[in-house]
Amino acid sequence: MERIRGYRYRAYPNKKQREFFEKTFGCCRFVYNHYLEIRKAAWNDWHDRLSYADMCRDLKLLTREKEWLKEADSIALRQSLRHLEKAYQNFFKKRGNHPQFRKKHALQSYRTANINQNIRIDGDTIRLPKAGKVKIVNTRAFDGRIVSATVSKTASGRYYISLQIEEEYEILPNGGGIIGIDVGIKAFCTDSSGAIIRNPRTLDAHEKRIQRLQKNLARKKEGSKNREKARIKLAREHEKVVDIRNDYQHKITAKLAKDNQIVCIEDLNVDGLKKNHRLAKSIVDASWGEFCRKLEYKVAEHGGITVRVPRNYPSSQICSFCGEKNPEVKNLALRNWTCPVCGAEHDRDINAARNILNKGLEMLAS
Ligand SMILES: [Zn+2]
Repeated sequence: MERIRGYRYRAYPNKKQREFFEKTFGCCRFVYNHYLEIRKAAWNDWHDRLSYADMCRDLKLLTREKEWLKEADSIALRQSLRHLEKAYQNFFKKRGNHPQFRKKHALQSYRTANINQNIRIDGDTIRLPKAGKVKIVNTRAFDGRIVSATVSKTASGRYYISLQIEEEYEILPNGGGIIGIDVGIKAFCTDSSGAIIRNPRTLDAHEKRIQRLQKNLARKKEGSKNREKARIKLAREHEKVVDIRNDYQHKITAKLAKDNQIVCIEDLNVDGLKKNHRLAKSIVDASWGEFCRKLEYKVAEHGGITVRVPRNYPSSQICSFCGEKNPEVKNLALRNWTCPVCGAEHDRDINAARNILNKGLEMLAS
C-alpha cells in the first residue's frame, strides 16, 4: 500500500533565506487574494466560474505586469491557485464556507512541489527551489519520494519545513474491537465501553499562563519593543498548548486504532457549534476535527474502518438499550438519567457513545 505522510522539521533559515520566505509568503497571499477577488466579481457580475486553468493562464500575464512576483518561488504561486481552487470546490460541494481573504497575521506558509528533484533532503539541510539549502534539525528519517514541501513561520517566529512523502507501508494488525466515541463537553471524549478520556491536565496550567500573558500584553504601549516581546511570549505559550494537545491526540488515537476494527465517531459540525457561545471554548479546545483526522488515518493503517455518524443524529437523547427517545436529555445539565420505558440507568456521555456505535454499525450493515 502507498500513502502520503507529512514529516515536519524545525528550520533555521539564514537572513537571505528568511527574506526570501517573507517575500514568497507575501506573494502567495497576494496571488490568492487577487484571484479570490476576481472570482468573486466574476460570479457576482456575470455568474461566471473561473477554472484553475483560467487562473494559471492569467497568472502568467500578471507576473509580467508585476515584476516583483518573479522574486518568489513560481511553483508556490501556482500552488496558491490550487489551494484557492480546492477551497472553492469544498464550497461548491457544501463542505466548507466561501473562501476568505488571507490575512497577514495568520500563520504564514507556502507550499512548493517537487519537480525534477528540486527538493532534496541531505543530512541537516533541505534544498528548496530558489531558497537553496536550508538548515534543519533532522529528527525524522523517511524512506520514500518527496511530493512537496511546505514552509511555515509561526506567530512566535519559528520556521518549519514539512515534507509530504509518498511511502510504501504494510497494514498493521488490530485487536478486533468495536467502539463508539462521543465528543465530550466535560471530558475530552467518552467511549462506548465506558472509558472517559480527560483533557491533559498540563493544559490548565498553560491556559492560566496564557491569560496572564494576555493581560500583560494589553498593558504594553502600542508599537513598543516591549509589546513585541510580550506578543512573542504569548504566541510561544499558544504554540506550546498546540504541541501538548497534538502529542496527546497522537497517543489516544494510536491506542484506539491498535485496539479496534470498527471505530464510530460523531461527524461534528465544529463551525456550527462555535456559534453557540456557551459551548464554544470546550469544543474548540477539544479540537475534535483534528482528533478525528488523526484517528481516521491511524485506524486505516491498522486495517480498521472509521464510520462517521451524521451530526444531526440525536445521540444523547436516545436510550441505547431500548431505542426510546427522551427529549428531557436535551438539557445539557442532565448528566445521569433513567429511561422511562425500560428503566436503564444512563450516564449521558457513555449512552451517547453507545448510540453512536449502534448507529455506525447500522450504517455499515446497510
Ligand atoms: Zn430504554
